[in-house]
Amino acid sequence: MARTQQKRRTRYGGRIHFEEANARPCEKAGCLELGEFRAPKSRDGADGYHLFCLEHVREYNKSYNYFADMPEEEAASFQHSAAYGHRQTWPMGHRTATMRADASFTDPFGFADERAERQAAKEAEKQRQRRQYTPEQRDAFRTLDIDPTDDLHALKRHYKQLVKRFHPDANGGDRRAEDRLKNINQAFSVLNAGLS
Ligand SMILES: [Zn+2]
Repeated sequence: MARTQQKRRTRYGGRIHFEEANARPCEKAGCLELGEFRAPKSRDGADGYHLFCLEHVREYNKSYNYFADMPEEEAASFQHSAAYGHRQTWPMGHRTATMRADASFTDPFGFADERAERQAAKEAEKQRQRRQYTPEQRDAFRTLDIDPTDDLHALKRHYKQLVKRFHPDANGGDRRAEDRLKNINQAFSVLNAGLS
């Protein structure tokens, strides 16, 4: 997806050439590494950039709020995580817009990618939970002779075919077909109620 590529570009976009860095040292006091990565001094980058080594640009970037456009509870749970000591959060909106627009902004932690991964994991979990059908639903799927599915449209199509096939008119008033149709109707209404 284009969105993902954009994020990856952003992630590595902050690395600058040695010539551009003019072989300046990392600005972290006492650090002897080259300042190969730049990080904006202010939120809008108008005050220029710090130059840091990878380790220290990471440290510096930790102070920014990467989660401004996350759903609130997601951001909150992440920020409460003891693993990351975010020192500072910025107001919503402006900072994020600037980051996205500024391809030179560094994201060496790959938080943008991490976020996409978390989102995907959440979706997968939702799907998994949906597949945990009740015994009654499992019986209903068996009665309809179809693999369990959340696809209500497919289910309806399948149901309509069964109705046609087992309708008494199509079976010369066969009593067994009528019973079968009753069970099919019952099973479908169970699934229709549970899955919609
Ligand atoms: Zn450094």
